[in-house]
Formats: sequence, structure tokens, C-alpha cells
Amino acid sequence: MAIAFDNSYARLPARFFAPVRPLESPAPALIQVNEPLAAELGIDADWLMSPAGLDMLSGRAIADGSEPIAQAYAGHQFGNFQPQLGDGRAVLLGEVIDRDGKRRDIQLKGGGHTPFSRSGDGRAALGPVLREYLVSEYMAALGVPTTRALAAVTTGETIMREIMLPGAIIARVASSHIRVGTFQFFAARGDEEALRLLADHVIERHYPAAKAAENRYRALLEAVIAAQAALVGRWLTIGFIHGVMNTDNVSVAGETIDYGPCAFMDQYDPATVFSSIDRAGRYAYANQPRIAAWNLARFAETLLPLLDANQDAAVEQAQSALAGFAPAFELAYFGRLSTKIGLIGHEPEDRPLIEAILKLMTENQVDFTLFFRQLGQAAAAEDGSGDEPVRSLFVDPTAFDGWARDWRARLARDGQDATSRRQAMDRVNPAFIPRNHQVEAMIAAAVERDDFAPFHRMLDVLSRPYEDQPDAADLADPPQPHERIAATFC
Ligand code: AMP
Ligand code: MG
Ligand code: MG
Repeated sequence: MAIAFDNSYARLPARFFAPVRPLESPAPALIQVNEPLAAELGIDADWLMSPAGLDMLSGRAIADGSEPIAQAYAGHQFGNFQPQLGDGRAVLLGEVIDRDGKRRDIQLKGGGHTPFSRSGDGRAALGPVLREYLVSEYMAALGVPTTRALAAVTTGETIMREIMLPGAIIARVASSHIRVGTFQFFAARGDEEALRLLADHVIERHYPAAKAAENRYRALLEAVIAAQAALVGRWLTIGFIHGVMNTDNVSVAGETIDYGPCAFMDQYDPATVFSSIDRAGRYAYANQPRIAAWNLARFAETLLPLLDANQDAAVEQAQSALAGFAPAFELAYFGRLSTKIGLIGHEPEDRPLIEAILKLMTENQVDFTLFFRQLGQAAAAEDGSGDEPVRSLFVDPTAFDGWARDWRARLARDGQDATSRRQAMDRVNPAFIPRNHQVEAMIAAAVERDDFAPFHRMLDVLSRPYEDQPDAADLADPPQPHERIAATFC
């Protein structure tokens, strides 16, 4: 067997999924195989790159042990509940146990029509596949919980979007693809038996410590809340905007999932929105914690019948668990930002210090990524002689000087030498993000000119985000005014 599949979701009752056959790509070609990830999963990368591997990745053959299914789920899309969504263009091939003993899903996204496709065509276009590959692997390189990209192929099909586009498939790996919307699917049907099975499956798979708790479902709820608070806290500290935080795109395992019209912010502005479908700005950068809390409230609702047989007691449990979100988010967010400005200790005044610089950054249209990276250089020289690169990011550089006096006074109380501080800052402040204008240019090269060199180059550079890479300086640059991307389509 080329892949040692060990499927557990397919063992759940039939109403959890639909068996499907992936679409057979007419003329598949490999774009990329993720060799380190294959090794992690115990899969021979040479096999993946062989004709037999390509057949599996492109839906032409079902590998031994694979039991392809589409998972059922529901979800709130932009606030409106849809009781019936499900994998409309994704096929779960099966699960493997990785070399650390962790269960991981292998899924083909763009793998064809399923019973849940509704009016969709079951396909994925090349551009979004490349974006998901690049951005998910970048998140992994930063250490942000995320689904991974095992491989990408073109299918040889042309698919219809606003224009005709090349079709592609991404082989995606996740701790699981179970979503808040999966719970909502059964809650909406009043199927308490299924809810309990699903909750027990998630506990066994992601939160086994919950089994020791007095109320394991309360422990599950708290664990999911903690994981989302930590995740969204991380997103904000790297300028990430998911773009479609619908409840069907929220992983109960706490991984970033469903990279659609996502993007990284260049200039710091809390109101930033890229997604072309997010007209009201519901999923704007700074709304993300609020939306996460709202999504978690929807999750808690699905668990009410499991939390306590007494309805009022169940609601009380849910509310007290949900009250844990805000402090957990703030701890993650301000904790990481403290590290980003070079602090190791904590003082009550750190939060206003951070808020002050964020306000100045908004007013002065400062590039979010470059600010923190170049602040590291400023930190290396206590006399301010290294300040010019960071202060010149500000429309009014004197705005930085005022803040820098308070910052230096704080650093002086923090008891770390300048060299160690700079090194610590460089380990948390990436030099590179997938700049949106460069991602779009990379996609255009592949789609319009069949040129995958920019994709491979960005993938390579972004796999080492904390390293200065002088020969990739162009990829660190923010967009020129005429290069700015206003909207991202998916
Ligand atoms: P998304 O907004 O990508 O998270 O997708 C929301 C729902 O629409 C999910 O049920 C997807 O499976 C489904 N969907 C998205 N694109 C397609 C497509 N091209 N064909 C079929 N279903 C799709
Ligand atoms: Mg989705
Ligand atoms: Mg999607």
C-alpha cells in the first residue's frame, strides 16, 4: 500500500457524509509536491510524483485503502444560516497517522462534483489553488496552526468562472476538516445522537484531555474557544485577513482553514478588507476577534443538549465558557505584540504602549510587516542611531520619535541586552509576507503564461520568513501605489 490509510470518519454513521468518486482529470500535470510534508505523513514523495501518485492526486485512481467521501455540514454564511452545505468540491480521500502519531486528513479540493455541490461545478481554479498552497505553507512556516498543502496539480480542464480558467486540485492535509458547521448540521436537525457521536469523535481526535473532565462537553467547548482565541490572536499579529469567517470555515481543531480571498495587510489599517464578496466589511481585519466570538457562540448553541439536561444550566455553562474568549484572545494578541516590540517581561502599561504605536501606524500609513522588522534594527542601537529605517516608514517620522522615547524607557526596565533583544525580535517579526500584489502577479504568470517560476520562487522564499534574504529583497517590498490590490477574488 503506497499510503497507509486509517479512516475513522468513514466509520461514523452514513448521515455524516456521502461516498463519492473524485472527478477524473482529463490531462493532469503536477505543479508541486511537498516532500517534507509527505515524509511527515509517511508517504513516499517519489511515489506521489510517479504516474500512480499523479493518478490519485488528480482523481483518476482511488489508492488502496482510500474511501473517498464528501462530508456533510451546515453553516452561517455572512450571518445567514444554511442548513445544508457540505463538501461541494472537496473529496476526503482518507486519514493517515503521521510520524508523531497524529491523525491527519488527506483531501482533494477541486476534486469534483458531490451530492453537496448545489449549483457549483465541483471544480477549483488554478489561481485560488496556488494562493492556498502558498499561504497555507507560509502560515506553517510561521508556526501558525493551519491546514497544509501536500500537492497541487492542474487538471487539463478549462473551467468557467467570470472568464474561462485552468482547473486545478490541491491535496490538502488537516488535523481534521470538522467545522463548527458540522455540529450545526446535526443541531439544525435535532439529531442529538449524531451530535454526541461527533463531539466524542472530536474529543478523541483533538482534545483527549477533555475525557478526564467532570463534563467532557464543557471541556470540549472550552478547548475549542481557547484554540480559536489563540489562532485569531496570531492572525492579527501577522496582518492576516481570512476573508470568509463563516462558521463552515471554522475548524474545531483550531487550524486556519479554507483559504479563499484571504490576504495580508500592507499598510496598517484596522478596517482593511480585501475579499470582493465581503461588501459590508463583516470580516475586516479588526472585526475578526468579534466574529470568532460570534462563531463560537453558534458552536456553543449546538452543544447545549450535551452540556446539561437542564436547559438553563446548559445556557449558563455555555455563557461562562464563552466569557473566556475575550481574555484568552487578549492574552494571545497583546502577548505576541509585546514580544514583537522586544519585551520579555510584562507591565500593566505595556498595553497602552502597544495601542499607542498601532494608532500612530494607522495615522501614518505604516507598513505593518516592515515596521516590526525594522523596529528590531532600532532596538539593536540603544542610542537611536538605527532608527532611520523604521521612522522613515511614517508619513510624519517625528510621530515615531515621540513613541520611541517611551518605548526605550520601557526597554531599559526589561533587562535584556540589545543584541539578544534584536535577535529575539527577528525570530517573531517576519521579513516576508505573501504580499498580495505579488501573489496576484504570481497567479497571473501561471494562469496567463503557464509560468510557474514565480510560484516556486515565492514558495521557497516564504518558507524561511524570518531570514533576511538579500536576493529576494523585491519580495519584501510593499506595493507601489499603482500596484496596490483593492479586492481579492476567489
Ligand atoms: P466556501 O465559501 O469556499 O467556504 O464554500 C462554501 C460552500 O460552497 C461549501 O459547501 C463549498 O463546498 C461550496 N462550494 C464552493 N465552491 C464550489 C464549487 N465550485 N462547486 C461546488 N461547491 C462549491
Ligand atoms: Mg468553506
Ligand atoms: Mg472554500
